[in-house]
Amino acid sequence: MSNTRELLRWATAALKETEIESPQLDAEVLLAHSRGLSRSELYTQPDGRPSVEAEEHFRSLVARRLQHEPVAYITAQKEFYGLELQVDGRVLIPRPETETLVEVALMIGRQREVAVLAEVGVGSGAVAIALAVNLPSIEIYAIDSSSDALAVAEENCRRHDVLDRVHLLLGDLLMPMPKPVGLIVANLPYVSQDELPNLAPDITDYEPLYALDGGPDGLDHIRRLLEQASSRLRPPGMICLEIGATQALAVNDLAREQFPAAIVGLVRDLAGLDRVAIIAT
Ligand code: GLN
Repeated sequence: MSNTRELLRWATAALKETEIESPQLDAEVLLAHSRGLSRSELYTQPDGRPSVEAEEHFRSLVARRLQHEPVAYITAQKEFYGLELQVDGRVLIPRPETETLVEVALMIGRQREVAVLAEVGVGSGAVAIALAVNLPSIEIYAIDSSSDALAVAEENCRRHDVLDRVHLLLGDLLMPMPKPVGLIVANLPYVSQDELPNLAPDITDYEPLYALDGGPDGLDHIRRLLEQASSRLRPPGMICLEIGATQALAVNDLAREQFPAAIVGLVRDLAGLDRVAIIAT
């Protein structure tokens, strides 16, 4: 039997050896999870000894991480925009850079007093729920082409008590929209097929490929969304798109093809990379 300090030292070294990016953090999160504690609680008793069962459980979680399974899938949860979300292999793990998309949509939602919006590519529900929680009277049409993802999103909506204002719809991009809206928010798959094989095994071996694969240039879904938006966006409308760091110019051109008078703005994420395109039609 080992104490907390020894278990963390062992796990951190093993994860480092396998070139896991944040070995110490991962070891702490997994140990806390296996003991039902918070990370800070681990440190109040560094000499405490977990039960034999808890230690075995922890070692099995570390073994999974050593196979590159993401921590969020192992713990079945991920924090996004201050909200605890349930995640599993049916949905992409919400990324911190997507919080930039939420910030932008919240700003527009408040400034324009938007009453209804569409959110496309719902996945776990992260963006729709963050918007619904922070815009207390908004109504959201939240669309995904995967019924598996919608099942996860439904759970998360229930957990955050927004199921009455987030209408989950199954279908291709904007096709299931019952009526035009003035604001469309989307984090669609935008990784190009050349880039896909270069992603970390944590992503390619575990996360749903359909949520990342944007076709040859990464823009297949964004292109089709903009085409569909020409009849489903109520003018003067706005579209906020999460994009890849090298896609700003191409997205600008695609937007102007559909909306010749559009003004396109760009917002960078916290890493300084182009991340959100704002299209005002
Ligand atoms: N930013 C994500 C990644 O690099 C991609 C998300 C997406 O395609 N929408 O893993």
